[in-house]
Amino acid sequence: SDLSRLILDRIRDVPDYPKPGVLFKDITPLLADPAAFSAVTDELAGLHEVDKIVGIEARGFILAAPAAYKAGAGFVPMRKKGKLPSETLDESYDLEYGSATIEVHRDAFAPGDRVLIVDDVLATGGTACAAVELVRRAGAEVVAVAVLMELAFLKGRDRLAGVELHPLVIV
Ligand code: 5GP
Repeated sequence: SDLSRLILDRIRDVPDYPKPGVLFKDITPLLADPAAFSAVTDELAGLHEVDKIVGIEARGFILAAPAAYKAGAGFVPMRKKGKLPSETLDESYDLEYGSATIEVHRDAFAPGDRVLIVDDVLATGGTACAAVELVRRAGAEVVAVAVLMELAFLKGRDRLAGVELHPLVIV
């Protein structure tokens, strides 16, 4: 589609970042392009009727906040451990080496809020899976997970069984 083309043409592959052997998808050229950034924002905002849009630190914030504004939804930040000031719920997940923890404020959602989770890239799915758990534990309903780009070869989708996934592009 035109949107896929717009996105794919503006994602830069950076070899060996953040470590040797990884081909990093750099979304900064897309963010810097007004037509592409607004097309992505409009697409994310139009996916579902929701009460809140969650952005996952840090690139998820950049996509989720304007989408929430456009959709007339609230924005909720999901952050790395230790960054949120009030009482939190946390969820840990395994990385290739070690583990990571993300948090959300306990009172971020009203009971039964309909929630869209947004991030830039779905890789192994660990982050998105933890985000789904956190929203549910906080008493809200996950309507879908949306990502700019799904890296299909990492099979992150398999960890999101039963959750609607909207990748704007799949590579
Ligand atoms: P996962 O938990 O699915 O393995 O990794 C997804 C998380 O790592 C996302 O929050 C995403 O921002 C980041 N990530 C992993 N690989 C890439 C990549 O190639 N490009 C970008 N922009 N982010 C990545």
